[in-house]
Amino acid sequence: MIGVSGIDRGLRIVDAIVAVVLAPACAACDELLDSPTRGPVCARCWRSILPLTPPICDRCGDPLPSWRVVSVPRQQCARCRRSTRAVDRARAIGAYDGALRAVIHALKYDGRRSLAKPIAALMRQRGADLLAGAACAVPVPLHGSRRRRRGFNQADDLARHLGLPLVRALVRTRATKTQTELPAAQRHRNVRDGFAATPAAAALAGGCVVLVDDVSTTGATLEACARALKAAGVAEVRALTAARVVGRMSS
Ligand SMILES: [Zn+2]
Ligand SMILES: [Zn+2]
Repeated sequence: MIGVSGIDRGLRIVDAIVAVVLAPACAACDELLDSPTRGPVCARCWRSILPLTPPICDRCGDPLPSWRVVSVPRQQCARCRRSTRAVDRARAIGAYDGALRAVIHALKYDGRRSLAKPIAALMRQRGADLLAGAACAVPVPLHGSRRRRRGFNQADDLARHLGLPLVRALVRTRATKTQTELPAAQRHRNVRDGFAATPAAAALAGGCVVLVDDVSTTGATLEACARALKAAGVAEVRALTAARVVGRMSS
């Protein structure tokens, strides 16, 4: 066994024993795991998570129709060209589909929290230019009741592995005790958006932050979070999610 360290050999033996005795299945595809010590998802599933195919919109990260020849360096989809958005740029590992979807489900609904680290590793890799130069990672908060039921916030778990300081700069504002302490104008925005900046956001004024969530569906949650951060003085809000729902392709 040239080149195989003792640790590797040891892990392989453990893998062999665990695979036979416990027969754990991959959390994404349900096939038996060959190397259970490497985590609850098989190598084939990780390999099958592909990036969104370029060209993609530089702002929102949606794939652009391939006939749109990339001639300008900063391509934007029709929606982004039409509207002003609080999220300056958004990216994801890939489409909310296949193995990526299954891995996120395992993290979120089966409580496989050990998956946050490898998912975040893919977010770091594919969102490298988004993370570059940002001051911190801000997780999208869960409703208090949902968090109590689940016991953790998956966005928080992902955000802590991105190599940036974690700042919990946002809260949900449905249970509205804090509402009464806000001026009327802010209250209105609060109610509409469902998010408000925490006192921790004050330190981020003028800076650039990366909002973190597991899935971007319509982008409305990220947009509401970004509005709350900008209202608190944050200059640039980027959004990095594990996955993105694609399909409403805009021309
Ligand atoms: Zn698998
Ligand atoms: Zn776009």
